Amino acid sequence: MTCDDFQAHYLARDGGADSDAHLAGCNWCRSRIEELDAIRLQLDATAMWEAPSDELEEAIVASLRRTRGPIAPTNRAWTATAVAALLVVVAGAFVLIQSRQPDWDIALPASPGIGATASVAGWNTPAGTRMEFSINGLEPAGENEYYEIWLTADDGRHVSAGTFTGPGRIESFAGVSRRDFPRIWVTLEPNDGDEGIGGPTVLDTGS
Ligand SMILES: [Zn+2]
Repeated sequence: MTCDDFQAHYLARDGGADSDAHLAGCNWCRSRIEELDAIRLQLDATAMWEAPSDELEEAIVASLRRTRGPIAPTNRAWTATAVAALLVVVAGAFVLIQSRQPDWDIALPASPGIGATASVAGWNTPAGTRMEFSINGLEPAGENEYYEIWLTADDGRHVSAGTFTGPGRIESFAGVSRRDFPRIWVTLEPNDGDEGIGGPTVLDTGS
């Protein structure tokens, strides 16, 4: 196994006995582990939430370049290796990005008199439901008000999934599954110390 192979596999978290043996016997790769770990963390964080940035791609290329110095025009073999190594990383990131597609994506109709359009995408996770609300045209909440997201079960139990103050892209999480709590709705709540549902409904998938 070459140093390039090792580092590409390491970045892709695709190590094995060969990788372990290479690392044990290679001072150069051991000296670069800290930098590779930093890139790996960045890859993990990026793959969770967004497409890889140009900076990240540059960081990977720059890091791989340092294994052999600048790419000379005659060093075609190295260039091919770098491209192959980058493809391993990008393919890994692509698989993670694909798996980020929401499990469901539904409209969130506005109540009569509320001039807003909204939808919510959701990801079912072992810890609950991650949601991303996309809300346009909703009046910003007043000074002593906030909007609150609720999930409601068929038997009437409610779980709050967070509060917000105006339109835009809202990240939310609820510690229940949507299968058990199918209704998603938003109320405008007075900030009066009462944690119950008190205000008017502005958005609602209906039960
Ligand atoms: Zn090495």
